[in-house]
Amino acid sequence: MSESTESQAGFLSRRRFFRWVSALSAAVGVGSLVSSAEAFSSPTPSSDGEDYYAKLGVPTIINAAGTYTTLTAACMPPEVLAAVQKAALHPVRLHDLQRKAGEYIARRLNCEGAIVTSGAAGAISLATAACIQYANNLSILDMPQALSGRKNAVIVQRAHRYEYDRAMYLCGARVTEVVTLEDYRSACRAGNAVMTNFFNAAEEEEGIAGSAQIGREEWLRVAHEYKIPCLLDAAADMPPISNLWKYTGMGFDLVTFSGGKGMRGPQNAGLLLGRKSLTDLAHENNNPGDGIGRGMKVAKEQIVGMVAAVDWVLSHTEESMQGDYQKRVDLIAAAMKGIPSVRTETVVPKIANHVPHLLIRFDPEVTGVTTDQIVEALRTEKPSIELNPNTGQKPNQGIPADANTLVVGVWMLQPGEDAIVGQRIRAVLTKKA
Ligand SMILES: *Cc1c(COP(=O)(O)O)cnc(C)c1O
Repeated sequence: MSESTESQAGFLSRRRFFRWVSALSAAVGVGSLVSSAEAFSSPTPSSDGEDYYAKLGVPTIINAAGTYTTLTAACMPPEVLAAVQKAALHPVRLHDLQRKAGEYIARRLNCEGAIVTSGAAGAISLATAACIQYANNLSILDMPQALSGRKNAVIVQRAHRYEYDRAMYLCGARVTEVVTLEDYRSACRAGNAVMTNFFNAAEEEEGIAGSAQIGREEWLRVAHEYKIPCLLDAAADMPPISNLWKYTGMGFDLVTFSGGKGMRGPQNAGLLLGRKSLTDLAHENNNPGDGIGRGMKVAKEQIVGMVAAVDWVLSHTEESMQGDYQKRVDLIAAAMKGIPSVRTETVVPKIANHVPHLLIRFDPEVTGVTTDQIVEALRTEKPSIELNPNTGQKPNQGIPADANTLVVGVWMLQPGEDAIVGQRIRAVLTKKA
């Protein structure tokens, strides 16, 4: 927007504002309202908002990494953003919104119950609280402090232990770790389990030492023999889109997805899907109740944003979503053509982050730059580019990198950024940076 149209828009909105204020003061008979309101109005209101990143001096980045929490994960697509903006203009009754949003999502994702949570980690806490309550028949106010002598074990395979275990501990739960099927059966028989947790992306990988021994179906079957509810953490596991109903369809009692990763909803939103009796209990433990979830508030903007993100995801086909990501990979790969020693390759990790990633392999002896120098150059120049953190690392989570391999995650790129990333990497690899 040019400066003159901007000040024009500012003038118009200011005029509208004063018209509204004078109508209001006439209605309530308060003459001084105009002057006090005037004091609060910004001297240069701008219709498209202040750029607070610029104002605060926080550099924006091109995210060629992926849905990493520390990089603020996804940006919402325009449709989702528009829905959030509209929702922000009107207060509603929070319970009405939570209930209706849950019913809508459950219908669209073909499960009994759903709840918008403060992210997948928040969903794990609410799921644990729900299962503790279900097993013990106690009040939300008893967690975490009044669980002695009550059931509070969550059964988890050793290979599925992770940083999100604390999302369960904070409800007062404790993890019972199992390795073999026999361990698992005996943990179920012990009678103090309230839930099991299955880290979806850590399913057994044949022949890999230390990997989990028990697969999804067997895990579920055994727990259900003992009537123990099963949570599945699939936070980063959409796409494929069908995962949004596959695991609840298999019989997992509760399933969580992060809202701010592949679903491209607000970063502080997530989904807990599953059996209605349990999602209802999760709801009870959620904000604004005074249970475990009180500090996991999901505001109206995030609830609506999550619902809109579900609609956005379902407006795609698997092919359209993955095909778009593959085009970006191809465009960046094409920019590497003819650089001595450089070879490119597409990989799609099997479970988490199941989208095309570009591997750029090179020989530092030939290019004259090392992986660290490339990462640093891309990061410090403008616009700052963040490559996938598997860059220069050993094979990990389905990404077969090595010391001389750059990894480009393309799915969080904004329109047009694929071309910039291609040009910049080419420039650095050919030392024309
Ligand atoms: C990202 C992630 C989470 C946490 O998701 P948030 O939405 O950031 O709370 C939990 N579990 C797994 C496996 C994840 O990848």
